[in-house]
Amino acid sequence: MATDAKRPKREDGSSDCSVDESLNSFLLWCDEVSLNLSSKVYLSKEGTVAAYGMLAKEDIEEGHVLFSIPRCALLHPGTSKTKKVLEEEKNRLESPSGWVPLLLALMYEYTSAGSHWRPYLSLWPDFRKLDHPMFWSREERETLLKGTGVPEAVDTDLSNIQLEYKDTVLPFMLSHPELWDPERHTLELYQSLVAFVMAYSFQEPSEDEDEDPNPPMMVPMADMLNHVSNHNANLEYTPECLKMVAVRPIKKAEEIFNTYGQTANWQLLHMYGFTEPFPTNSNDTADVQMTAVYKAAQQATPNEAEQRLLVDKWKMLRDMDVVGEKGVFVFGKNGSLTDTELYMTLKVISMSKEEFRDFQENEGWEDDEDEDEDSRAAQALSFDGIPALAPDWKRLLHAAAGFTLTAYAEDLETDLRVMEEPKALAKLGHRERRALDVRLGQKSILRKLQQLTH
Ligand code: SAM
Repeated sequence: MATDAKRPKREDGSSDCSVDESLNSFLLWCDEVSLNLSSKVYLSKEGTVAAYGMLAKEDIEEGHVLFSIPRCALLHPGTSKTKKVLEEEKNRLESPSGWVPLLLALMYEYTSAGSHWRPYLSLWPDFRKLDHPMFWSREERETLLKGTGVPEAVDTDLSNIQLEYKDTVLPFMLSHPELWDPERHTLELYQSLVAFVMAYSFQEPSEDEDEDPNPPMMVPMADMLNHVSNHNANLEYTPECLKMVAVRPIKKAEEIFNTYGQTANWQLLHMYGFTEPFPTNSNDTADVQMTAVYKAAQQATPNEAEQRLLVDKWKMLRDMDVVGEKGVFVFGKNGSLTDTELYMTLKVISMSKEEFRDFQENEGWEDDEDEDEDSRAAQALSFDGIPALAPDWKRLLHAAAGFTLTAYAEDLETDLRVMEEPKALAKLGHRERRALDVRLGQKSILRKLQQLTH
């Protein structure tokens, strides 16, 4: 039985069963599967940042277990009705994403009236609320998100989804007509479920860093929590169950926030369809294409002999896997997050002909030199360290940041004017506002890099 404490509460504190029957039947299901919810929290659509969320009914101390989920309540290929065929024929379901088995299990469970997971999945009767950029028009993406990296990431997703559905999922469904029917389990449903998995699934951390990452799974109740970078709860994995634990004291009426990881706004938008309002996301980042640093070096190289030397240097950096054609140097709010690669790149590019020849003969740096270099790199390429870099390094960074800024449709000042003008901000649609948060977060980091390297 769901207790009153678990029923959705209205702002006045009373509960109203008619408000959300699907939430009540989910809470009953939680009781049945021994998913234990603390009496200090409740689920609601009121007082949360986005649709469902969890709120504190009273003050909560750090370390309090907000809820625990037995492993049998998790939804993944191993717990789904489709387990047997998914396991027996798993070789047919391999794909770069590794998500196909979960997606097939979800397609079945989502559309099966008798599914054990019905009270859980019925919380989302359709997926129209998902607003990932993959559901925006191409024109919206290209106009609002030009330069952010999101349009390219979405194009890759969309073509992978189509290929995976046509080449792997469809043939598999056709050979199991007792479980799937392509008329019902369409590409459109598949794409919605991809977005659902992107935004709602969890990946248990692997015990061994060298192992392949674990495939995603659905974790009822944990996926009712919204995210902020300054979160107050965290999911812990034990052999028997998963526990959401308060990581700091939480005041009565505060929302309980999980963390979806240290995630920049462009990634939050791409994977979850939302952003943290600019400038609150402490995990925001901006990418500088590695090729932008190369282009900056080319422009700074006066003659043909030097140009040829630069080509050799870049080739060596590529052979050492320090740079790649599509690679990026990532900057956070406090400086470079890919400091080792960037430091090596700047160092090699700035070598004289003789230094580079020695470097080639040594086949790179000695191992102990590498370790010293790592700690030097982190300090030197932090925003505190960058002003003290050698002038030629600063010039390269300055030019690369400049090239990156020109890839956006509008400059930083234009975006800032909108952000700072309440009337202009109020006129923005939901998507325009999200895109503005992404652009401003990235551009302000790039601008800071430019200023520090001036
Ligand atoms: N609010 C969700 C619901 O009602 O189904 C539960 C959380 S679900 C794991 C993730 C989704 O919640 C995201 O895709 C996004 O739509 C929303 N969300 C999470 N954190 C958010 C935030 N800080 N601001 C806006 N939306 C958020």
